[in-house]
Amino acid sequence: MRDYIKHYINGEWVDSTGSETIDVINPATEQVIGKVSNGTQEDLNKAVQAAREAFPAFSNTTKDERIELLEKIANEYEKRKDDIIEVITEELGSPVSLSEKVHYNMGLQHFKQAAEQLKHFTFTEQRGDTLIQKEPIGVAGLITPWNFPTNQTSTKLAGAFASGSTVVMKPSELTPYAAILLAEIFEKAGVPKGVFNLVNGTGDTIGNGISSHPDIDFISFTGSGGTGQKISENAAKDIKKVSLELGGKSPLVVLGDADIQTAAKTAVTNVIMNTGQVCTAATRTLVPKSIHDDFIAAVKDVLSKYNVGDPTDKENFMGPLVSAKQWDRVQSYIEKGSAEGATLVTGGTGKPDGLEEGYYVKPTVFTNVSNDMVIAQEEIFGPVMSVITYEGIDEAIEIANDTIYGLAGYVVGKDADTLRKVATSIRAGQITVNNAAQDFSAPFGGFKQSGNGREWGDYGIDEYLEPRAIKGFPF
Ligand code: NAD
Repeated sequence: MRDYIKHYINGEWVDSTGSETIDVINPATEQVIGKVSNGTQEDLNKAVQAAREAFPAFSNTTKDERIELLEKIANEYEKRKDDIIEVITEELGSPVSLSEKVHYNMGLQHFKQAAEQLKHFTFTEQRGDTLIQKEPIGVAGLITPWNFPTNQTSTKLAGAFASGSTVVMKPSELTPYAAILLAEIFEKAGVPKGVFNLVNGTGDTIGNGISSHPDIDFISFTGSGGTGQKISENAAKDIKKVSLELGGKSPLVVLGDADIQTAAKTAVTNVIMNTGQVCTAATRTLVPKSIHDDFIAAVKDVLSKYNVGDPTDKENFMGPLVSAKQWDRVQSYIEKGSAEGATLVTGGTGKPDGLEEGYYVKPTVFTNVSNDMVIAQEEIFGPVMSVITYEGIDEAIEIANDTIYGLAGYVVGKDADTLRKVATSIRAGQITVNNAAQDFSAPFGGFKQSGNGREWGDYGIDEYLEPRAIKGFPF
């Protein structure tokens, strides 16, 4: 059992001032694997005070000192590789191969990238007789979800540490153990006391406490739109800056000249990776009418090659959903898809054969979907693909943009002019052409209701900085 009921405040593991705990469940076995404290306002106040007191010294560290710190963190993080993979597989149900290649790796890259980025980052700039200084924002409140327990935490923490800001973090109560490992890593790496504080708890207790805390200067949140709204409303009371990374309903545009097998593989892996619990998942697949039937046949073929099951088995590509609540939610969307008149190609409601225990779902593909259906408009957060046909490229772009979201977009095909036209017309923060690799120095964030900030690389450092202009300089 993983019973880590202490919070990490001011460089020490401390008991909660309350006695409430939250059970943490392994979604593959439905068994309780441990518990964490449901922190109190008093716990949070102590953490905020520690972060506030640590701020003057940390904000005055040099860029070189912070580069060294980030490098030490990356180094310690690498030493805990096996533990990180094990924890994410256990608390999220992520298959071990994905826990290593994606979850573990993304967390590591953010720390490394921030160190690299800092080497070229300028905190002061003279423009004529104006001096522009970028100052650390102060105490940042970080609220993170469960779907990428090391990626979302690490990108925020790397940006904050690189900037010289101090933090209070509340990870998701569904996947708190990856963040506890990070605290251990920071302790080993010599993060000064009070710079990083971890308070566990629910959204109602600690999440709400962070968004309304008068002594927190900035909130960085990743999660659902509804929670983002609540946080913004609370933060508005004292004009706290808020950065939101929210959901998506991202399009993947298959061009008429695309290799159909490649396009099908890109579409399938994108929608079932992390059991579809990805904010940038390409959940709307836009396919020319002329190649629809061949594409659907290729999708079925590709899907048949991926195994669903026990996340500790290296052969499995897809594990369970994170919780019973998410399982119910995904089932209800699959029911809605059929009720709305979409054609079920494969998958459907219920659990895959032989996987009765665990929150497993069937990878599901609907076709004959029209873009105004609920399954094409709302974020399902499960492995559910909606195939929508189009006639010409202008129609594809129109459908791609016909959503309240704008987090990501994908295009697969050959003709360079058409690839460029689609890539530059989708109103979204990240566009991937032909399965291009991840770039950790590039900005990550959303247009429209997908959010209002940017993380990763130098954009992720800028989030934690306030520019000050001193005019008439030098005096
Ligand atoms: P959520 O927004 O409720 O939770 C995310 C984080 O916010 C958690 O740490 C949670 O404890 C905290 N939180 C909850 N209520 C809060 C409040 N009032 N004030 C402050 N913090 C609060 O998301 P969820 O319930 O875990 O997932 C629901 C849906 O959100 C998913 O189905 C998916 O559509 C979406 N989601 C999106 C992302 C993303 O990366 N964009 C990530 C996770 C979930």
